[in-house]
Order: sequence, then C-alpha cells, then structure tokens
Amino acid sequence: MKVTVLVGGVGGARFLQGVKSLLGEDDEITAIVNVGDDVWMHGLRICPDLDTCMYTLGGGIDTERGWGRVAETWHARDELAAYGADPDWFGLGDRDIATHLIRSRMLRTGYPLSAVTEALCNRWKPGLRLLPVTDDRSETHVVVTDPEDPSGESQRAIHFQEWWVRYRAQIETHSFAHIGAEQASPAPGVLEAIVDADAVILAPSNPVVSVGAILAVPGIRSALRTTAAKVVGLSPIVDDKPLRGMADECLSVIDVETTAEAVGKYYGARSDTGILDGWLIHSTDTATVPGVDVRSVPLLMTDPETTARMAAAALHCAGVDL
Ligand code: GDP
Ligand code: CA
Repeated sequence: MKVTVLVGGVGGARFLQGVKSLLGEDDEITAIVNVGDDVWMHGLRICPDLDTCMYTLGGGIDTERGWGRVAETWHARDELAAYGADPDWFGLGDRDIATHLIRSRMLRTGYPLSAVTEALCNRWKPGLRLLPVTDDRSETHVVVTDPEDPSGESQRAIHFQEWWVRYRAQIETHSFAHIGAEQASPAPGVLEAIVDADAVILAPSNPVVSVGAILAVPGIRSALRTTAAKVVGLSPIVDDKPLRGMADECLSVIDVETTAEAVGKYYGARSDTGILDGWLIHSTDTATVPGVDVRSVPLLMTDPETTARMAAAALHCAGVDL
C-alpha cells in the first residue's frame, strides 16, 4: 500500500508516527514536508519541519519541547549572544547545529534539498520517505505593521520565523506571502507520490503555514484534485482551539474562523473546487462541509495508541483496508 501524508512540523511528525505504526515493511509511506519555515541563520540553512519529522521518527527528538534534539546543549547560542550576533531571538542547539552544518555544506556544493534530506535520513532512518515539497525556495513571509516604525503607519514583510518566534504572532498582521512559491516546482517524486498513492492524508498540521504553504507550490493542488486516491484531512482544531502553537493567529489573518468546520470548508470538497474527500474532526466537535465525508473520532495525539487509531480512522475514511 502507498500512503502519502502532507505534513508540517510537530503535529505532522506525531501523526506520521501513528501512520508508521500501522503499516508494514512492504507498505510505502511518503511524507511531503512543508519548507515554508526554512530560513538562513548565521550562514546555516534551517529546515524546522523537515528536522522535526526526521528527529521525531528517528528517535532524536526532545519529546518535551516537541522540536529540536534530546539532551541538547546551548553553548553555541550563548557564544553567539556574547558576540552580539544577529538574530538573537532564534536559539540553535549544539547538536542540532551539526545537522545544519551538513545540510548547508551540501546545499552549497549544489545538492538539492531532497537529496540532502535523503542523506541526513541515512543516519536517522525515519522508516518512511521524507520529501521536501520543493527543492526551490518557497518561504513564508508575513506582512506586518512595522514594529520599529513609531508612527505605526508603514508595513513590512518579515520572515515567518521572526513573526512566530520573535513576536509570537502578537503584532498587527496583514497577510502571508509565499516568497518564491510561484516559480517553485515540486521536488522529484512529490507529484508521483500524490498521484500514485492509495490514500492521501493531510496531517493535523497548521492549515495556513504548514499545509497552506505546501499547497502554494504550483502543481500540488491539481495533483490532489486529480489523484485516484481519496484525500482525507484531520482537523488540527479541537473545541475551537489549536492544540499547540498559534494556528488561530494564522487563521485569523486569512479570515478563517478557528473551528474544525471552517478549516474543512477552507480546504473545500474535491467534488467542488477544493481538495478533500473526507474530513476528520474530534469526537466532541460538529461540522458540515458540503461534499465532504465528515467523521468525528478522537483526535488527541496523547499517546501512540490513540495516534495510531487516528491514522487508522483516516485510512478507513480513505477507503483502504489495513
Ligand atoms: P509545526 O510546524 O511544528 O507548527 O507543526 P504542524 O503544522 O505540523 O502542527 C501544528 C498543528 O498541530 C497545530 O495547529 C495543532 O493544533 C495541531 N496539533 C498538535 N497536536 C495535536 C493533536 O494532538 N491533535 C490534533 N488534532 N491536532 C494537533
Ligand atoms: Ca512549522
């Protein structure tokens, strides 16, 4: 069986663990990973969502934080701060830096991100294929009221990481821009993974800056609309709140309510102009999405068994039998 999952970072990685626990050696799982959060810092290329997936599935994640390496130390960050190095709001852990050093070196030598990711995965053995959605630059930037302009009149685009990590999304925000997305093309294998799949699943990832940023790459949406597989999404919104992170801040920027129903409608039905055949919402939520098979099942990834049951419900909704 071939299962393809569109994912961001923490929510996506946890969900992938559930999918992986259900399937056998002969099955093929492909994760198409958001690269909109990727950024250059201190001369290093950081790919937060790819690394969260790789570390989570490879057993190197800090499970408390949900991102970064377990048993991390922060000497490099402290040394950078002592130099007054900019940016000072993004902490890179020492162990993590080794990953970024190798990635940056390979990228500078000319390897595409997909090949670099494959090389890094030779160490981590995530047990499934991690594919960046594109090898091209497609970065999420955020148009905000310039926090450094005392008049409060000018707007400026800042990188998503600066908005999320430095400002915690707590500044006046106008829109998202996927810089480079229009010229980007899907990485090798991405379209095939969608079109040839037996089931395509949208993880309970951030609908705007994770799944939304994946959909911004030309070709992805039409592959989702034309695949013979069913496309099933899981709501990251439970009881009108995101479970971690600030998906509500992102949704309000694009004028979508923070409810499972509104997110389902934002993705839309494949039978209409959208991308969903099925939409899983949490047992205590209700939603009607015209043209979409909406099912309520427990959607809290509290432990591996529950996460596996979520994945099973998604595959069942997609019409594949385990
Ligand atoms: P990020 O890139 O690290 O922000 O991770 P993702 O985009 O993959 O996932 C973030 C989303 O995961 C948030 O919007 C959360 O609401 C959602 N999420 C986290 N834990 C859970 C959970 O246990 N159940 C569900 N349904 N969603 C979750
Ligand atoms: Ca992310």
